[in-house]
Amino acid sequence: MHELTIMKNVVSICEQNAAGSRVTSVTLDVGELSGIVPGALEFCFDSCTKGTLLEGASLKIIIIEPQVRCNGCKALFGARAYHDSCPECGGFDIEILFGEELRVKELEVV
Ligand SMILES: [Zn+2]
Repeated sequence: MHELTIMKNVVSICEQNAAGSRVTSVTLDVGELSGIVPGALEFCFDSCTKGTLLEGASLKIIIIEPQVRCNGCKALFGARAYHDSCPECGGFDIEILFGEELRVKELEVV
């Protein structure tokens, strides 16, 4: 499972940042176009954090809505998928500005 690997990476990033302190809460930004299923991240959180500084921590996931720019007419708009066309000019030459990210936004440590 893709999300399992991602969550293991997230846990190791959090442990590095926590520098030995116990983590009580983790907040993640997950873009809608990242291909990551938030429910799957939640599902493997407990097993991935077991025996780590994050054991027992709560997980918050913030979904980042995609924002794309049309390279044809420079319009900015929200997109739900990569193959969306520009609502202004109908062009398909679009660039993703936000929505592909996965990052650790916040850590709360004791
Ligand atoms: Zn356009």
